[in-house]
Amino acid sequence: MQDTYLYIRYSHDKQSEGSSYDRQLGMARQHCRTLIEDDKHIYFDAGKSAFKGEHLDDGGKLKRFYDDVKSGVVPKGSTLLVEDLDRLSRDGMWKASDKLRELTENGIAVVTLRDGRRYEGVLKLSDALTSLLKQELANDESVKKSGRVADSYVKRYAKARTGKKVKVLLPSWLEWVGDDVPYKVREAEAGVVKEVFTWAAEGYSYAAIAKKLNQRGTKPFRSKEGDGKLWITASLFALVKNEAVVGVYKPRDGGPPIEGYFPVIVERDLFNAAQGARAERKEAKDTRTGTLFNVWAKVGLCAQCGRTWHCLPKGRGKQLYLVCSGKLGGTCTAKNIRADRAEIGFSEVLLNAVNADYFLGDRSEELMKARELQGLIDNAQQRHTKLVALLDDDPMPEVVAALKRVNAELTELRGRKEQMDQATAKQSAISRTRSALLAKIDLTENPARMQANTLLRRLGISVEIGRYDPQVSYTVRQGGNKILFVFEREGKPTAVSYSQETAERMYDRGETDELEYSLSLDDVMKSSTKRKLASAK
Ligand SMILES: [Zn+2]
Repeated sequence: MQDTYLYIRYSHDKQSEGSSYDRQLGMARQHCRTLIEDDKHIYFDAGKSAFKGEHLDDGGKLKRFYDDVKSGVVPKGSTLLVEDLDRLSRDGMWKASDKLRELTENGIAVVTLRDGRRYEGVLKLSDALTSLLKQELANDESVKKSGRVADSYVKRYAKARTGKKVKVLLPSWLEWVGDDVPYKVREAEAGVVKEVFTWAAEGYSYAAIAKKLNQRGTKPFRSKEGDGKLWITASLFALVKNEAVVGVYKPRDGGPPIEGYFPVIVERDLFNAAQGARAERKEAKDTRTGTLFNVWAKVGLCAQCGRTWHCLPKGRGKQLYLVCSGKLGGTCTAKNIRADRAEIGFSEVLLNAVNADYFLGDRSEELMKARELQGLIDNAQQRHTKLVALLDDDPMPEVVAALKRVNAELTELRGRKEQMDQATAKQSAISRTRSALLAKIDLTENPARMQANTLLRRLGISVEIGRYDPQVSYTVRQGGNKILFVFEREGKPTAVSYSQETAERMYDRGETDELEYSLSLDDVMKSSTKRKLASAK
């Protein structure tokens, strides 16, 4: 009697063993409603991982099925249901393909439940080929597994879109803690990310950044101690492009990016600046303005025609000159300006148009110490107030003693604070002098040149430059308003302020001589110390 048989083998995937049996049985029931569910019709082998070796010695139920076909227990004309062809042998596609042919040649039809395909009789070449290819795919557990993984990712993406924190492929500076728990920031990695973005925004090339990190011994993310891995430009390029640093998550489900999903490592401004610097570097490369970046790029305009200045090598010495682009086009007669001469003007513009803090760099440590001290003073002050209130209620000797101690503490703390303020004010006044700040403007390296140029552009500054021998003049505008006028003769620049803000900057540096509140450096130091002391009280 012709009959239908089912062979089930648990997959190797431990986690799905239970459901794996049910799934295979379910598919068989769907395919054949008359399937008889007894041990004569259902052959099954448990998963290899669970019953290691047991079925290998005697070949398991699968071998028994083949034997039953040979002995006629399973009659010719019967049908065997299997989930996939890979169930027909544990020994790979060739063996499984042999078994398929052996079965069909013995009059058994084989149905693969996954795709409902039926193999019977003498297999055609195309059937054999198809089965071989299918077999190869089916045997590749990793392919199947990735299919299952993909399914689970689809679910996770959907969940992520509801704002829930899920386990997905995370950037190296984040760690998954648990579903619905905020991601943990790995501080060391996040610190490196911030540094890389800062350097990129300053105009360092990825090669230069990689060199910095490698020389310092900072390992690339996810590398192990002693594996010798180094930072390369490609990984830095990918990092600087990665919007995950600003919190954006892009699930690979083809949907829109999710803003604000990850913790923010890099502020959007810095991120954008790093992108901008990338574009500028590319531009600098494209325009081939020699080895030095043109500090006047998109900032300097021709005073005569309003067009931009190019920086070009001229003459036999290949000396760099600023050349008006209108002149290059034959529509302007502006005189060329030696690039090194124009840099004297550039430094002067930078000095007077930008706040001194920019040149002074990071003072966060100083501020932190001052804040810490202020915190201690506030705390002592609070205790003092409480003790005074207690004293009003009941003048116990313990309270009086405690009050004395707090008073002494306060005196000591305030003394320290005053000393610190004075030192800071003095330092600040000295480091804000013209010569100290000019020394900070170093335009010898491209990163610094790009940084200075980017800064002026970000501030919305444009400068009209004209050479009127013997002087070169610079009219500085910010957002259209004239804020500063600089002229340079024989290498000596003079700045005249047109705005309150620029005037104050000069005043803070104690260098104004044409304004009514002209003060000497000593006066500035005294007055700024006084101001600090007044605000501390
Ligand atoms: Zn011009």
